Amino acid sequence: MAVAAPTYKDKTEEQEAITQMVRQFVDEQILPNAEKYDHEDSYPQPIVEQMQELGLFGVTIPEEYGGMGLDLTTYCMIVEELSRGWISISGIINTHFIGTYLLMKFGTEEQKAHYLPKMATGEIRASFSLSEPEAGSDVQAIKTTATKTGDDAWEINGAKMWVTNGLMSSVCFVLVRTDPNAQPAYKGMTCFIADKESGVGENTGELKGFNVPPKIKKMGYKGVESTELVFEGYKRTDGDILGGEEGLNKGFVQMMDALEVGRVNVAARGVGIAQRALELALRYSQERKTFGKPIAEHQAIQFKLADMATQIEAARLVTLKAVRMKDAGERSDLEAGMAKLLASETGRMCVEECFRIHGGYGYSKEYEIERLYRDAPLLLIGEGTSEIQRMVIGKKLLQRNKI
Ligand SMILES: Cc1cc2nc3c(=O)[nH]c(=O)nc-3n(C[C@H](O)[C@H](O)[C@H](O)COP(=O)(O)OP(=O)(O)OC[C@H]3O[C@@H](n4cnc5c(N)ncnc54)[C@H](O)[C@@H]3O)c2cc1C
Repeated sequence: MAVAAPTYKDKTEEQEAITQMVRQFVDEQILPNAEKYDHEDSYPQPIVEQMQELGLFGVTIPEEYGGMGLDLTTYCMIVEELSRGWISISGIINTHFIGTYLLMKFGTEEQKAHYLPKMATGEIRASFSLSEPEAGSDVQAIKTTATKTGDDAWEINGAKMWVTNGLMSSVCFVLVRTDPNAQPAYKGMTCFIADKESGVGENTGELKGFNVPPKIKKMGYKGVESTELVFEGYKRTDGDILGGEEGLNKGFVQMMDALEVGRVNVAARGVGIAQRALELALRYSQERKTFGKPIAEHQAIQFKLADMATQIEAARLVTLKAVRMKDAGERSDLEAGMAKLLASETGRMCVEECFRIHGGYGYSKEYEIERLYRDAPLLLIGEGTSEIQRMVIGKKLLQRNKI
């Protein structure tokens, strides 16, 4: 009996419906407006408000807290679609997502009840902060401290760097040293939940001592702000430690867990920007003619398109594998590292090839590829550089294959 060829489906019906909805939103609201916000380097408030209406800030938050209660895989699919439009938009949602993940996995019941409902609607948006002016890859070298000043009183002092959503967020998950003598250093680190006013530089009143200097000027990844954070005697209580008193000195492990999903999300962003670069390249190469025919008919250009499409498929599959493992409760640090490495490098490669296919016009601000060209390099850095991913992959490979 003849067997019908299987229809390949990598999305459930629900995932298909949600990603279609997000794709339409991207086509209608993000792609036509990204250039304006990018050139002005202004915050895309109307787009953020529409994302709130669509419920996108609460995708993975359980329904009991007002979210959609969807899995990480569906979230990653959404991130890919948003990043196809503009990676700054996925940046606004990604650090918020990391905050919700930290709360859902490690927060006390009280912390969940306090923050998650407002985070599900996007009324409160989150940032997270590990990096400092003198420590990025080497997280254990951070210097910001929280010192116990009373029975239930802590004081945070130090400076943080490169905080995505640093200005517009109202809550920041900050990694600090609580035991400066701990050996190794990571055993003396704690994650504090730091409230702040949204959009305000100098905080006053109860939030005094937590200030946000003006945003850092960047080559790309515009619209979403990256800032320093300055803590000068910022007061917190035991209840502001992620997970309460039990969370004391557990911050490094909590943050590394969140970064595992963060890395898969950056991978999804790499796939999204690469996909957009391929679409632009396919269109332009069939429109532009040289030597009497569309450049798409020159084999050298077809090879570029072929390499781009092949790499994108591979990057998407490895990203989905990593996130599905995480959803299944399996350890996925190796796979998350591979996904982040492959997809961010794929994003850079596809954007570069698309740029070349555009010839001189790729250098013009009139063409979308110019924005992608400035945006793609961020993915090689954020949530761990490619060198750091290779270190993680190598270490995990050896751990899993010890002789
Ligand atoms: C736009 C933007 C947004 C960001 N958002 C956030 C955020 O929201 N929160 C946050 O906490 N951080 C954020 N970051 C910081 C980011 O995570 C760091 O920049 C990144 O981890 C690299 O750290 P670094 O810049 O200090 O570089 P360094 O650690 O100083 O590294 C410099 C170079 O040395 C290489 N290197 C370092 N160590 C090794 C090694 N052992 N072996 C081989 N090579 C090595 C690196 O790969 C890199 O090429 C953001 C950064 C940017 C640019």
